[in-house]
Amino acid sequence: MRIAFFSTQPYDRDFFQLVNTDGLFSFEFYDTHLGPHIVNVVDNVDAVCVFVNDKVTREVIAILAAKGVKIIALRCAGFNNVDLEAAHEYGLSVCRVPAYSPEAVAEHAFAMLLTLNRKTHKAYNRVREQNFSLQGLLGFNLYGKTIGVIGTGQIGKAFCKIALGFGCRILAYDLYIDEHLSAQGVTYTSLEEVYAESDIISLHCPLTPENRYLINEVALKQMKNGVTLINTSRGALINTNAVIEGLKTKKIGALGIDVYEQEEKIFFKDLSGTIIEDDVLQRLMSFPNVLITAHQAFFTEEALTQIAETTLLNVRELGNGQSVSTPNALL
Ligand code: NAD
Repeated sequence: MRIAFFSTQPYDRDFFQLVNTDGLFSFEFYDTHLGPHIVNVVDNVDAVCVFVNDKVTREVIAILAAKGVKIIALRCAGFNNVDLEAAHEYGLSVCRVPAYSPEAVAEHAFAMLLTLNRKTHKAYNRVREQNFSLQGLLGFNLYGKTIGVIGTGQIGKAFCKIALGFGCRILAYDLYIDEHLSAQGVTYTSLEEVYAESDIISLHCPLTPENRYLINEVALKQMKNGVTLINTSRGALINTNAVIEGLKTKKIGALGIDVYEQEEKIFFKDLSGTIIEDDVLQRLMSFPNVLITAHQAFFTEEALTQIAETTLLNVRELGNGQSVSTPNALL
């Protein structure tokens, strides 16, 4: 089977080639995002494989269908960038990797929280400059603090387990209650109570039309002064302009984001020699209490191996007309 990959980086190629041990697949790799500008290069392939910032719109899907593509394989969990209705209408199967080492993302979210709180990134630079002063590095104990977790699926659950290990009190909000987590000491409550009571809030829900800009001016007003916000889910869960205001008024004490609304123009690229025109991102980067990583929460060896294995298994099963064996992989 032949697969055209978009938005590929060297590590994508390495891991997919490594997993293609029996040589059942042949690959075509493109660095660029899939979108109307490039979709015409697709030729004689069974599947396209896309990532978080590819734009799989109705227009793109219509062209893929006309070119005989049968499968859209997402090598990620989130699928907000694919017009599922159009895909079904044109008879294309869409599959994803619903769970690949959720611990990778949960651990990164916690790493962001610990870095922001204990300022290890600043301490590292300071000591290298032979500055051994502690002034400005004051943090707080996570032990005994209340963490609000929004979305307790695979990643949210892994995050809760880490937070429980730190001795935190956890308030969770999800559309569904996970009884197993409740039994472990996680308290499910309303979004309002999560906002009002949490010292730290971490987002682990998918981006949907209903929760776009979940964290907006109104939500921020309900939060504690000095709240720490962590977002490793999707950029548009946060209204970035509202969050900038929240940082300026000190409502937000610290912000850690691995995702950003306009990330597709910026993340995964080396722009060190470029003038960045995104003033909103530049403003965010100017705050000393903001930590930004470029969508790297998933980036562990275990996760990349699992992503490649599950993606190829999905494509193989769909290509053979079999049902997809990975739970929740077929969309
Ligand atoms: P999941 O499907 O296992 O869990 C999502 C949970 O969110 C579910 O329990 C669902 O009921 C809940 N939910 C849905 N809408 C909600 C809402 N409006 N409010 C509260 N809860 C809601 O997904 P997952 O594997 O835990 O992944 C969560 C998200 O993390 C993905 O959708 C993706 O956007 C993001 N993600 C980011 C990275 C990264 O590298 N930064 C990697 C993987 C996934």
